[in-house]
Amino acid sequence: MNPAPRSLPPSAEHTAWAMSQRRMFGLVAWVVAFACAGGLWMQAPRFDPLDRVALPVLGLTLLGLHLALALGRLRMRVAINVGYGLATLYLLLALRQQFQVFAPQAHTLSPSTYWFTVLYAVAFLLYPPRLAGVIAGGVYLLTLALCLVHLLGPGAGELRLAASTAQFLLVGVVMIIVQATFGMQRVQLLAAREAAYRDALTGLANRRAAEERLSVLADGSQAFTLVLFDLDHFKAVNDTFGHAVGDQVLRGVARAAQESLPLGGHAARWGGEEFLLILPPLSTRQLRATLDTLRSRLSAGRHGPVTGVTASFGVASARPGEHPDAVLTRADAAMYAAKQRGRDDVHHADPSSTTPGVPGQLAED
Ligand code: GH3
Ligand code: MG
Ligand code: MG
Repeated sequence: MNPAPRSLPPSAEHTAWAMSQRRMFGLVAWVVAFACAGGLWMQAPRFDPLDRVALPVLGLTLLGLHLALALGRLRMRVAINVGYGLATLYLLLALRQQFQVFAPQAHTLSPSTYWFTVLYAVAFLLYPPRLAGVIAGGVYLLTLALCLVHLLGPGAGELRLAASTAQFLLVGVVMIIVQATFGMQRVQLLAAREAAYRDALTGLANRRAAEERLSVLADGSQAFTLVLFDLDHFKAVNDTFGHAVGDQVLRGVARAAQESLPLGGHAARWGGEEFLLILPPLSTRQLRATLDTLRSRLSAGRHGPVTGVTASFGVASARPGEHPDAVLTRADAAMYAAKQRGRDDVHHADPSSTTPGVPGQLAED
């Protein structure tokens, strides 16, 4: 009996991205915590009433979120929302505070307003561009309101303060426009990448995507099974009903493959009328159930005038330390054997898990 099924990693790139996001959060948490501690240290012993409370809360909360992430107790999205929300609240309160205490004495805005540009930029790193635009725009409008209230209030006529406030507001607008432009470009880039990994006809992962998934498995740390299948007499479908109907069949087969996958499995169009399933470790019983489901979906499906689609399946499970290319070669040979045995059949590359003489049957575990 093989171990219970578990998910394969989505892709090397996705795993690296999630790790880098967690690392970035940790780094930012420590930098902000040190900045908070430094700010308090410089104010000692006469603390600003807001900073005395807000800086320890902000610094400690960020470190707490970082710890919870490291322990796997918190989702990244929650940590980001709480951390970003708290930092925004603190900066807005500090802006309001400086109009009341610092600005009337210094006749200018304090350098603490520099942090707003970071806040706008980070919104576009953490959130999708549209949402980031709403968040950064919302924060900007609040700063604008605070500035106007104070400039039009008792501080009216303060030329130096008006000039530094105008610069602060202008820099904010420019920063948001620049980041929104980069954000849109990033979305277009991601859409192009997504298209590069998807088969245009069936919507399934394409061969490039499958090869990338296989390369993730090359480190040998995970067991997996490959199933390569090729539709039987598909040329006859094209010849009889035309290419458009052939395409319709391919889309239906792709849907059936996707819907028959066990948890953690992946389906890809390997080429033409050939498909590849990358499956997590399954018991023989689970593997047979998966293939039986797929085969019955194929034969029961109706695609225009075509019904009763069959395919020849080659199955190969990775041996310890075996490279995915070698497993694929065995699956391919097994599929060829299934064709040779008369098609509409499953052939396992590992003879110990087949029941001799019973075509299409896998042994019980
Ligand atoms: P076998 O049982 O030996 O696999 O026979 P077959 O007819 O399926 O195999 P063959 O390799 O002779 O034919 C495969 C056909 O698949 C030929 C090709 O025109 C067709 N095909 C490949 N890609 C597409 C596609 O995107 N759309 C359509 N409609 N047909 C395709
Ligand atoms: Mg074929
Ligand atoms: Mg073929």
